[in-house]
Amino acid sequence: MKMSLQTLTPERQAAPAQSAFPAKPSLLGMDRSALAAALGSIGVPERQQRMRVAQLWHWIYLRGASSFEAMGNVGKDLRESLAENFTLARPEIVSEQVSVDGTRKWLFRFPAEGAGRPVEVETVYIPEEGRGTLCVSSQVGCTLNCTFCHTGTQKLVRNLTAGEIVSQILMARERIGDFPDLATPQGAIVPSEGRLVSNIVMMGMGEPLYNFDNVRDALLIAADGEGLSLSKRRITLSTSGVVPEIARTGDEIGCMLAISLHAVRDDLRDEIVPINRKWPLAELLHACRNYPGLSNARRITFEYVMLKGVNDSLAEARELVQLLKGIPAKINLIPFNPWPASPYECSDWDQIELFAEVVNRAGYASPIRTPRGRDIFAACGQLKSASERMKKREREAVSAVAAGA
Ligand code: SAH
Ligand code: SF4
Repeated sequence: MKMSLQTLTPERQAAPAQSAFPAKPSLLGMDRSALAAALGSIGVPERQQRMRVAQLWHWIYLRGASSFEAMGNVGKDLRESLAENFTLARPEIVSEQVSVDGTRKWLFRFPAEGAGRPVEVETVYIPEEGRGTLCVSSQVGCTLNCTFCHTGTQKLVRNLTAGEIVSQILMARERIGDFPDLATPQGAIVPSEGRLVSNIVMMGMGEPLYNFDNVRDALLIAADGEGLSLSKRRITLSTSGVVPEIARTGDEIGCMLAISLHAVRDDLRDEIVPINRKWPLAELLHACRNYPGLSNARRITFEYVMLKGVNDSLAEARELVQLLKGIPAKINLIPFNPWPASPYECSDWDQIELFAEVVNRAGYASPIRTPRGRDIFAACGQLKSASERMKKREREAVSAVAAGA
């Protein structure tokens, strides 16, 4: 099947990574006290630091400034001194692909750390009616190796810094014209109302809870009311089950939690989500029951990837609802998104529907994630899909794509 796939070649692409990123410390990802210390280090007196921090915050996170020159209300001398000593550099765009359904996938390149090489990560934007979701990466590669996940085949290269995580959000907003002084590119598919990036999901490359501090710092910046201002209810962190960090996620970040469950018995989960050998289902679910702030209005999302003949029987659907009893939960059924040489097939649509019916009858809303951006391989690992009950028309279209692919 032919796809109408558009690859944009952005202007800022050309410069080689090394020279594009002078080895100056970046102010991106610093909290207010770190910014104050940075200002102190270039001689800004203590009594001015609070005001200057507020100015920087406003320019970087509210106005989307990517250089110090743009900061009109900061004196010229200070702007020059900031530029000499620090950077606001964002990643280089290696590629930007736009799907027929408006999904955008970027490959961003970040500079080397120390003696390492520059690294590349994916970020995906998924526009829907009334919301725009950004799927953000936390690591380059992953230490875990879930058998259905493409990222799991890649070794961990390194953790992303808080600045690198935040800059994925800044870049996405820049590219879709979601800062006050920018326009949305002509023809871009974006939500018709509300913010263009309204939701963040930590569902890109990597295990966010193995990079806890940087992910926390980045998400607190994303949620900061004087900057990016995303509601914590609209920020979701997805984990394969790093049990010891789950309570901290609630306490220190306070965002929504998603668990990559994918199997209802330890023997199968040991195989497909191998972290289960370390923290089996009983421990994982215990941590979920105790997730700080959990209520019927703030439910945990359980993700369940539909693998044909592996985890998709109706008996497993029934076990799933048993297992989650007593936990305020949502269940997201994710059609498996195949990647080259992946060892699984996606369950048949009919089977996914029957599975969903069992889950629905038990009282759970169980949206089947509509595959999005399939033409640009914007699945997770190759990232992902958005939660919305599938409409019949969409389902048929997707089946046609799957059949023709
Ligand atoms: N490491 C974290 C977050 C990144 S993966 C985690 O595992 O939760 C985000 C989600 O995409 C997880 O639920 C993951 O299991 C799922 N996923 C990975 N590869 C997939 C694929 N090929 N098809 C469908 N979902 C996939
Ligand atoms: Fe890592 Fe998540 Fe992929 Fe598992 S599913 S390999 S934890 S990125």
